Amino acid sequence: MAKKVRVRFAPSPTGPLHIGGVRTALFNYLFAKKHDGVFVLRVEDTDQTRYVEGAEDYIKESLEWLNIPYDEGPGKEGGFGPYRQSERKHLYKQYADRLIAEGKAYYAFDTPEELAAQRSQYEAEKKTFIYNWHNRLKLTNSLSLSEAETRERLDRGDHYTIRFKSPENEMLHLKDLIRGDIQIDTNTLDDKVLFKSDGMPTYHLANIVDDHLMEITHVIRGEEWLPSLALHQQLYDAFGWEAPQFAHLSLILKPNGKGKLSKRDGEAGGFPVFPLEWNAPDGGTASGYREDGYLSEAVLNMLAFLGWNPGTEQELFDLEGLIQSFSLEKVNKAGAKFDPEKAKWFQQQYFQQQENASLATQFESLLKSKGIETSLPVSEIVSLVKERATFVSDLWDQASFFFEAPTAFDEKASKKAFKEDTPAILTNVLGIMENVAEFNAATLSTEVKGWITSQEMGFGKVMMPLRLSLVGEMKGPDVFDIAAILGKDETLSRIQKAIETIS
Ligand code: GLU
Repeated sequence: MAKKVRVRFAPSPTGPLHIGGVRTALFNYLFAKKHDGVFVLRVEDTDQTRYVEGAEDYIKESLEWLNIPYDEGPGKEGGFGPYRQSERKHLYKQYADRLIAEGKAYYAFDTPEELAAQRSQYEAEKKTFIYNWHNRLKLTNSLSLSEAETRERLDRGDHYTIRFKSPENEMLHLKDLIRGDIQIDTNTLDDKVLFKSDGMPTYHLANIVDDHLMEITHVIRGEEWLPSLALHQQLYDAFGWEAPQFAHLSLILKPNGKGKLSKRDGEAGGFPVFPLEWNAPDGGTASGYREDGYLSEAVLNMLAFLGWNPGTEQELFDLEGLIQSFSLEKVNKAGAKFDPEKAKWFQQQYFQQQENASLATQFESLLKSKGIETSLPVSEIVSLVKERATFVSDLWDQASFFFEAPTAFDEKASKKAFKEDTPAILTNVLGIMENVAEFNAATLSTEVKGWITSQEMGFGKVMMPLRLSLVGEMKGPDVFDIAAILGKDETLSRIQKAIETIS
């Protein structure tokens, strides 16, 4: 029987989760669900110097908002916990020790100052300093020192790190599910630190020990971790463990395709690069899709298409549809250009699909926040203006005149619409509207248009000033729909006011 698919999203809580990270989480989620597997959240917080308060909660809240919950993780025990590396500290040292005992790793006693001096010496010779087979015997470590000297240093409590002993002259054959076969010459690799002098494992050691212990079958992560693959594969081999399969997702690029999408690109282009608004402990803030009014379904759909496509023309997918269609074979090797306009397009598609009643509820709370209590039929108003809106806030731009009578008339439009005979015309319209049998859009339209025809007048001569009276500008839905919603009193009072203003 095939092994149960287990994947993990393993963020470090060093700040808000960038949408690139969210996409990694999403692809892991989709892959897990597609294969009836388990999606694990593991918090990689071994680097205490980079820990940021609130970042873990931010990550969880983002996944929750996007409706891609983890099956196992902090707070959701699944038999492989704890899921925070800081709570697993005690686990890692024994693995580093094991590699030392087997001659696959060694103690290094070089101080930061000594290493810095080496580095500058190399730089002066225009070379880059790599700590590996070519110089390790000239540096201070348990390979260059005698056993007794090493013991002595350990016993007296000298600071040390544990480094992986990367082999000389070997060709590594690595496999990536997206990139295919990769060959790496071990001579180019440095002896990476596995264990730090502060008693904590490095990312590399903790990451592969945990992936092993948590029985992770597929590692789906960002391209920035591709350079670590050689070390990770070597560590699996050194421990004699079966490595998971790897898939490295391409970067999300700036809209112009030049380089990685950054927070600054978002600020410059006026679009968020984070799922949720982030208020940093130090006071900095960054905008988020949720607070900017995006629907989570739209953001999810947009993210899925960053580097993946189903191979058909279909672009709109709900979560279930994405799970069905997702496969790593369809994930692109090339970087995915981020397109803020496309994000809006997805938002617009999902916005239009929303029920009027649900939009009305959201619109009503926006009205309330502006201090507007209304007895108008908000759901009907929504249905009239919705097609011109992408966000709830657009509903206000499209429909504010329902709730606030115009206080001025658009200058350019007034010049065109208000003529000498306009007051007389509007007075006639006022009379007709006052006397209609039923104050609804159909009757108003029939009566007013009938009168215009009988007068052999151009429609614009009447309809433009009428719209300006009710709206203040030349925008909005059908003028009789507007009048019907405003009701008789308000409609007549606005027309009356317009007559007074232009007379
Ligand atoms: N903690 C790493 C990160 O922050 C995890 C990388 C991986 O998935 O192996 O992205």
